[in-house]
Amino acid sequence: MLDLEKKTTSDDGSVRFVWRLPGGHQVESVLFRTTADSFIQPSAQAAERPLSLPSGAVVCVSSQAGCNVGCRFCATALQPMKHNLSAEEICAQVIRSAREENVRGGTRVVFAGMGEPMLNYEPVRDAALHLTGREDVHNVAVSTMGIVPAIQRLAAEAPAVDLYVSLHAANDTLRTSLVPLNRKYPIGDVLEAARAFAQETGRRVDISYLLLKGINDSPQDARELAALLDRNLFTVKLLLWNTVPGLPFERVPDERAVEFAGWLDDCGQPAYVIPSKARDVDAGCGQMITTQPSASRLRRVTREFSAPS
Ligand code: SF4
Repeated sequence: MLDLEKKTTSDDGSVRFVWRLPGGHQVESVLFRTTADSFIQPSAQAAERPLSLPSGAVVCVSSQAGCNVGCRFCATALQPMKHNLSAEEICAQVIRSAREENVRGGTRVVFAGMGEPMLNYEPVRDAALHLTGREDVHNVAVSTMGIVPAIQRLAAEAPAVDLYVSLHAANDTLRTSLVPLNRKYPIGDVLEAARAFAQETGRRVDISYLLLKGINDSPQDARELAALLDRNLFTVKLLLWNTVPGLPFERVPDERAVEFAGWLDDCGQPAYVIPSKARDVDAGCGQMITTQPSASRLRRVTREFSAPS
C-alpha cells in the first residue's frame, strides 16, 4: 500500500516518514512523543485549572499530496495538490509509522500533515471512524482551516473525533491575508460551526493560533482573540512558526509565546504553548513538502501576502 522512501530521526526523537503511494505521489507523516511537560501553560489562573494534556506517541498524517488552500506561511502550499488520499492510504500511515517505531501502548492520531483534511472529507471521515474503533489508537483529531459545511458533517457523522480549528488571526482582514480561504469562510462562520461542533459532541475544540513575529503576536491581538472565543468551549493552542525558506515570516521567541498565553489567560481564556517538534528534519508544523517548489509558485504565495498595517 505505502512504500517507505525515507525515514529521518530528529534530535528530539521525532521521526519523519516519506511515503510513496501506489499512484507514485509522495506524502509525509511524522511520529512524535509528548510528555506532560511538552506543553507550556502560563502560570497565574492556569495553575488553578490545569488542562489535562495527554502524553504518548502521536502520528501526524497527511490527507492530500500537496495543498491548494494557499496559506501564506506553509510549505505544503508551495506544492500543488495532486492526489486525495484514500481512507486506506491514511490509515496505513498510522499503522506503518507505529510499527516502524515499535510503538507500544497505542498512539494518538492528528490529521495535520499535508493537505486540508476537510477538502478530502469522506476518506478522512472514514479513516477517522476506522481509527477511533481500533484498540491501539487512543484518540483522533482532525485539524482544519475551517471548511464550515464539513465541520457540520463531522459533528453528525464522527462525533467521537476531536476538532482543531486553525484561526491564526483575530480579525478577518489579517486572517484573509494569511489564509485566503477566509474570504469564503470568515472567522464568524468558522467559530459558529466550531461552537456548534463543541455543543453537539460535548468535546472542547482546540483553536490553533500560529504566532508570527510582528504580525499577530501583540497584547492587542491576544485581547481581540480572547474576545472572540467562548472559554467554556474552546482552548487556544499556540504554535511557533517553523522556518520555510523563501517565506516572509519570523518565529517568535518561546518567551513571547508564553507571554501571549498569559495575556489570553488574563482574559480568562485557557491557552497553552506547543513547543515545536521535528524542525531539524523539516517535519515541523507547516514544513511538510515533498517536491521542490517552482519559482512561480513561490512568487505567487509570497506576492499575495501583505500584512495589513
Ligand atoms: S496550513 Fe494546511 S490548509 Fe493551509 S496550505 Fe498548509 S496544508 Fe494546506
